[in-house]
Amino acid sequence: MNELADLYQEVILDHNRQPRNFKRLPGATHEAKGHNPLCGDQITVYLQVEDGVVRDIGFEGAGCAISTASASLMTEALKAQGLAEVHRLFEGFRELVTGGQSRGELGKLEVLGGVSEYPARVKCATLCWHTLNAALEGGAKDVVTTE
Ligand code: ZN
Repeated sequence: MNELADLYQEVILDHNRQPRNFKRLPGATHEAKGHNPLCGDQITVYLQVEDGVVRDIGFEGAGCAISTASASLMTEALKAQGLAEVHRLFEGFRELVTGGQSRGELGKLEVLGGVSEYPARVKCATLCWHTLNAALEGGAKDVVTTE
C-alpha cells in the first residue's frame, strides 16, 4: 500500500515538474480562468472543441503541486475525448477526490484519490475541473472561484 502511495506521489511530482499541455491555445474555442483563494492557485484553461470533441486542450497558471499536477493530468485525460466522456470523467473525478468510491474508470487520474483525506487539498485538485466546466458552459469571462 505504501509502495502504491509512493508511486502515486511520484506521478504527481513528475506532472508538477513537467506539466503536460502547459500552453495557451491560440485557436481556443473556449477558455476560463479559475482561482482557489484558499491556496492561491490560479489557472486558465483553454479548449479547442470541434464537432463535440476536444481537439486540443491546454492550461496556464501558477499554483501548488497538487493543482498543477491535477491540471496536467486532466489535459492528458481529456484530449481527443467527446464531451459526454468529459462530463463523465468530471463526475467520476469529483466523486474520487471528495471521498466517494472510485469506479476504476479514471485511469491515471486515480493518483489524485489520496487528496480526499485532506479536505483543504480537494479544492486544489478540483480547481482545473471547475474551470474547465465554466469554459465549456460558454466561456464565461468571470473568474471561477472555489469559494
Ligand atoms: Zn493548491
